Amino acid sequence: MLINMKQLYTHENKMMVENMRNHLRQAGIEALMKNEFSGGGIGELSPLETWPELWVSNAEYSRAKAVLATLREPILADNWHCNNCDEENEGNFEICWKCQHSAAQS
Ligand SMILES: [Zn+2]
Repeated sequence: MLINMKQLYTHENKMMVENMRNHLRQAGIEALMKNEFSGGGIGELSPLETWPELWVSNAEYSRAKAVLATLREPILADNWHCNNCDEENEGNFEICWKCQHSAAQS
């Protein structure tokens, strides 16, 4: 099934992986997320095996790598103030840590 795809990225934090996928999507690359729903639990698998993974097609792999290369971990962005409760949030938070208001809606 994944014969024409390569694993591009993996991280223990699903938020990071989703963030990467969003950046890829903005660049016009559709990435497949594996293990999206398997993380978080304490099960039989080692934590490493349940990290979410991003896979892209071979054809888009080098371009996707280039997109990722422009994004350093952790993604540094300016702090922002929540429009709802005026709490200051770190730039890599997409929702307010205090009231869960979305940064995109502010
Ligand atoms: Zn807030």
